[in-house]
Amino acid sequence: MIKFSMTNQLLINQIRNIKIVYQTEIIPYCIARIYLVIFKLQDRETEVASLNKDLLANQDKLKGYSDYYDFYVGLGQSLQLAQGGIPHEFGTFIPKDVIRIAFNTADSSHTIADYIETLIHEYLHYASYVSDDKKLSDVFFEEGLTEYFARQIIKNDLDVSTNIGYPVFAKIIDQMTKRISESELTDIYFSKDQVRLEQLLDRVYGENFYKNTRIEFLNLQYASSPDLALKIANEIMKKTWRQSVERKKTC
Ligand SMILES: [Zn+2]
Repeated sequence: MIKFSMTNQLLINQIRNIKIVYQTEIIPYCIARIYLVIFKLQDRETEVASLNKDLLANQDKLKGYSDYYDFYVGLGQSLQLAQGGIPHEFGTFIPKDVIRIAFNTADSSHTIADYIETLIHEYLHYASYVSDDKKLSDVFFEEGLTEYFARQIIKNDLDVSTNIGYPVFAKIIDQMTKRISESELTDIYFSKDQVRLEQLLDRVYGENFYKNTRIEFLNLQYASSPDLALKIANEIMKKTWRQSVERKKTC
């Protein structure tokens, strides 16, 4: 019995030893495993954070590409329009003394008056050229005034109306001459006096008219379809009309 008892005690001790072994080696082992898992989880978290960052960056890129897409679609539409025979102008002035004119003999809708009008348009660019540094800031005013004056010359000298270059620009300038004298516009055009142009527009259409409308003037030159150009033109006309009415009310 004693022997048994001793054996039993020995067994118990052995079990305790096993427990001790378990506590001293297995638990730290488990803790180490847990830490390993925690480290791995932390690695995953870092990876997830990095992926989220990439995702946000890619979403921004996607937005950017989407804007580029819209831009190039618009550009493509503009080119299609140009191909379809609605160009802004058939000539070009290369500062300071070169004029090039294209004349499409295959298209009978382009009359000799159109050709002469284009020639006058380019000649006006040449005659009003001051220097590379001194010019009107907006294509709208440079081209709009050039085309308006060219049409006036053709109308006065040949008694023919043309509508070949910058039709919307010319129409808006034509409307502006209802309230601004041609001589004042001529002075500004030939001296390329941008400051005087802005002051004149603000004086006639109200304070900050030029600053508040400049975005429309810029957008008009990039309008990708006649419909869009008309929409922007209407915005400009609405502003000139509204400013005029408001000014009349306060007078
Ligand atoms: Zn031009």
